[in-house]
Amino acid sequence: MKKIKLHDKEFRLLIEASAIDLAVTGLAQRLNHDLQDEQPLFLSVLNGSFMFTSDLLKKITIPGTEISFIKIASYAGTCSTGTVRELIGFHKNIEGRTIVILEDMIDSGKSMAYLLDLLKARNPKKIYVATMFYKPKALVCKIPVDYYALSLENDFVVGHGLDYDDLGRNLPDLYILDNRENKA
Ligand code: 5GP
Ligand code: MG
Repeated sequence: MKKIKLHDKEFRLLIEASAIDLAVTGLAQRLNHDLQDEQPLFLSVLNGSFMFTSDLLKKITIPGTEISFIKIASYAGTCSTGTVRELIGFHKNIEGRTIVILEDMIDSGKSMAYLLDLLKARNPKKIYVATMFYKPKALVCKIPVDYYALSLENDFVVGHGLDYDDLGRNLPDLYILDNRENKA
């Protein structure tokens, strides 16, 4: 079994890059079919979505396709507001546009719920959510997950864009935290 160590933790292979590529190809085909007349603007949420975005967009054949990158800054707010998130460095006019948000992972759905509210305020025609990985059992916010490549159980994973304390994003395969090895 293929294993890796990042910082203090051991991870084992969960999904090989070839299987991720296959699922992303299927997702691209669905988008090509559904949005062929929409001149979509893909919004890639950095940092985790960089690899997914590159994999996916090479397979998108829709005329008028555009790609932009967005980053969400999170910081501790006051007691009543909890974590405050804001869009940084994104000033594009999206009024009347068909948007496809590209995420690495939807877990609780809280990040996506915030992002959807921020983008809806800019009056796009329609917003679709597309994620590489999706943990349906972890979802607590009512958000639409229109497209996903692969669904996962509620485990912590790294690789293919996803990090553990900044390490592991460059790994082509997906790894799962190895609980047996990490027990004290
Ligand atoms: P949510 O707001 O849906 O709970 O969390 C979404 C974000 O948390 C993802 O975009 C991702 O950055 C991070 N996240 C959620 N689950 C995992 C995981 O299993 N591994 C890693 N590395 N990040 C995760
Ligand atoms: Mg993320």
